[in-house]
Amino acid sequence: MATVSRATGEGAARFKTHEVFNQAPPLEGLDVFSSNRPLVEATQREGAGWVLGRAAELGRFVGGAPQQEWGRLANENTPVLRTFDRYGHRIDEVEFHPAWHQLMKMGVEHELHSLPWTSSEPFAHTARAALYMTAMQAEAGYCCPITMTFAVVPALRAQPELAAEWEPLLMSTSYDGRLIPASEKGSAISGMAMTEKQGGSDVRANTTVAHPLNGGGAGAEYEIVGHKWFCSAPMSDVFLVLAQTDDGVSCFLMPRILPDGSRNEFHIQRLKDKLGNRSNASSEVEFHGAWSRMVGEPGRGVPTIIEMVGHTRLDCVIGSAAGMRSGVVSALHHTAHRSAFGKLLIDQPLMRNVLADLCVESEATTALAMRLARAYDEAREDADASENETDAQLFKRLATAVGKYWTCKRAPNHAFESLETLGGAGYIEESGMPRLYREAPLASIWEGSGNVMSLDVLRALTRSPRSLEVYLHEVEQAAGADARLDARVSELKRQFSDPETLETRARRVVESMALCLEGSLLVRDGDPAVADAFCASRLGGDGGLEYGTLPAGCDFEAIISRSRPEL
Ligand SMILES: Cc1cc2nc3c(=O)[nH]c(=O)nc-3n(C[C@H](O)[C@H](O)[C@H](O)COP(=O)(O)OP(=O)(O)OC[C@H]3O[C@@H](n4cnc5c(N)ncnc54)[C@H](O)[C@@H]3O)c2cc1C
Repeated sequence: MATVSRATGEGAARFKTHEVFNQAPPLEGLDVFSSNRPLVEATQREGAGWVLGRAAELGRFVGGAPQQEWGRLANENTPVLRTFDRYGHRIDEVEFHPAWHQLMKMGVEHELHSLPWTSSEPFAHTARAALYMTAMQAEAGYCCPITMTFAVVPALRAQPELAAEWEPLLMSTSYDGRLIPASEKGSAISGMAMTEKQGGSDVRANTTVAHPLNGGGAGAEYEIVGHKWFCSAPMSDVFLVLAQTDDGVSCFLMPRILPDGSRNEFHIQRLKDKLGNRSNASSEVEFHGAWSRMVGEPGRGVPTIIEMVGHTRLDCVIGSAAGMRSGVVSALHHTAHRSAFGKLLIDQPLMRNVLADLCVESEATTALAMRLARAYDEAREDADASENETDAQLFKRLATAVGKYWTCKRAPNHAFESLETLGGAGYIEESGMPRLYREAPLASIWEGSGNVMSLDVLRALTRSPRSLEVYLHEVEQAAGADARLDARVSELKRQFSDPETLETRARRVVESMALCLEGSLLVRDGDPAVADAFCASRLGGDGGLEYGTLPAGCDFEAIISRSRPEL
């Protein structure tokens, strides 16, 4: 009895330890697109203004349940492999939390996987980039199968009869996560399986073998025996797979369900226990005579699948911009409500430097991603007109490798610094920042790790020496506007003068190429305060190795207020 009376009335007041105050309110109901001013401006600038209304609608949706609940639930309730059913039949299915399926449904219904291939509007890649960057701020994991479904299309078109069969299913705007015949559900999701235990970057070392069933050749049936060490989204309906033939590495389309409705010999050995990206399943698989059809010519597997790889690399750049934007929003929101030492953190001069620096990086990455997306539109237009090796195509090829290397490298430390602006709360799972941080290194590893991307830049330059000229032409559209940019471009040109050591210096060269492009985009079309801070710190040497080291003369107010989310 005594205990009860102490916990009520006067007793309760006596034991009340504290009021909760000086905490940021939940960031709910944000229009994730319209509040992202740098993205809105870039979408318009790069020609996809027609998508603004639609992107705002998506932005409002993403700021609701997807951002508040689905992403967290899908990460806390990670996928589970069910190898057998209760009777002992092999089923190789992965079970996901309903939140995962809701995210997938959102991605598919908003055409993140299909827009450039189905829309008749101009600059549809650019429009999709705006939508993708918005939707990815809810959660990154589901974007993996969405990206692969988007990226498989140009590779599949190397085999027109397979494209005719699968493209309508892949481009469907309805989502059905069941492992049943794609023709029955009227939709399909695609994955890709290249990486093996003995080699991922070097796919020519693949040991998986394809045996022809009826003579072989482009479009013909094969039986595949071997393994893949990384195969994400293994519940996808169909995969592009690399395997050896007598003619060398070739590309194959491997469905999980066979035309007669039975299951293909596609066996999931286990799921990876990953650093981040935990909502998504990444698996190790074995093919015990899996039925497949060849895509493209025998022995041309790498050039065939590279079409898919290129488009996934574009999404790595867009994804890095999305991650940075998420970090900036959390950092600005928290510091605008949290006080320390008598002032809101956002008003503390040193914190303003950190925040502004994070904003500058986020803006530069957004500008680069959107310019790159436009290059995909322009390159495709040229290809549709049967023009090859055009400026747009050369720029797209080179800028993809440059952009993937640099933006993916910048993302992890950006996530960390954004996290740190929240202090200890940022280290706590509920803040969402650990999820952002764990996700951040993935894009750099996947689809060409840092060194591989740098070497890819050199490969592109060797194959088409004119591509450097095209790249510099794009950068030099800002010539004369900022002396720091001009000086850095001159220095960049000198970096190509010693070909003997180019491979050893590749990272530095690619870094300079990326910085000059970002600087040019910001100087030409960006906000003057952002461009000035970028040129001072990233090009002119007036900055440190960490974020928060912009020179004191920067216009911090202008930089921060542009990125600040308005509720
Ligand atoms: C979460 C996740 C999901 C994935 N999903 C898939 C998937 O769905 N399908 C798929 O096929 N793969 C997938 N991968 C695999 C990924 O694409 C590979 O891990 C990546 O391509 C690197 O290959 P690797 O792991 O064999 O490393 P390696 O090729 O052994 O490379 C190791 C390191 O060496 C460097 N390196 C390689 N060659 C050189 C060189 N010549 N000079 C200097 N440095 C070099 C690389 O940059 C890298 O840093 C996934 C990976 C992860 C982490």
